[in-house]
Amino acid sequence: MPNAQFPILINMDNSSFASGKPAFTPEKRNINKVPFVELFNDRLQGVVSSGSDLNRVYVSFFETGSLDFYCSTNNNRPCGGLRGRPCKHLLSLLDEAIAQYGIEEVVRFLKISGDQSQIATRSDIIPRTGGQKKQPASEVFSRFLHYLRYLELEQTNEPIPEMSWFV
Ligand SMILES: [Zn+2]
Repeated sequence: MPNAQFPILINMDNSSFASGKPAFTPEKRNINKVPFVELFNDRLQGVVSSGSDLNRVYVSFFETGSLDFYCSTNNNRPCGGLRGRPCKHLLSLLDEAIAQYGIEEVVRFLKISGDQSQIATRSDIIPRTGGQKKQPASEVFSRFLHYLRYLELEQTNEPIPEMSWFV
């Protein structure tokens, strides 16, 4: 007897249906470097590990439209690498967003002005970024913690590498 409870997976991405293009297949992301990236609430945002200190993470974002950006530690200390242009954390965040969502989706979500078809790589986005816009890290960071809890529930008893920041 067929199991009526079996979930049916449906591709909800109407845009790829409409365009007739095959759905984007995400590349393998570097979750050690960027454990969390999302397109949410007019921001491409996420959490980026510090290159040098395993116990420190940075919260970084780009705003849609203006492409204003900011980067700080999860304790709201400004990132020292921000000098009027995106720091290495923001560059990593962008790389991982492109790996996860594809360049077309990232460009569309960020509402980058001009001919979007001319934007093929991260290097095409960076010259179009705006200015620094100080925002508290707490909202993004709490979404990251929520995401970790979700992982914990969904997965097995295997240790979660991201949790090593909090020990
Ligand atoms: Zn930074």
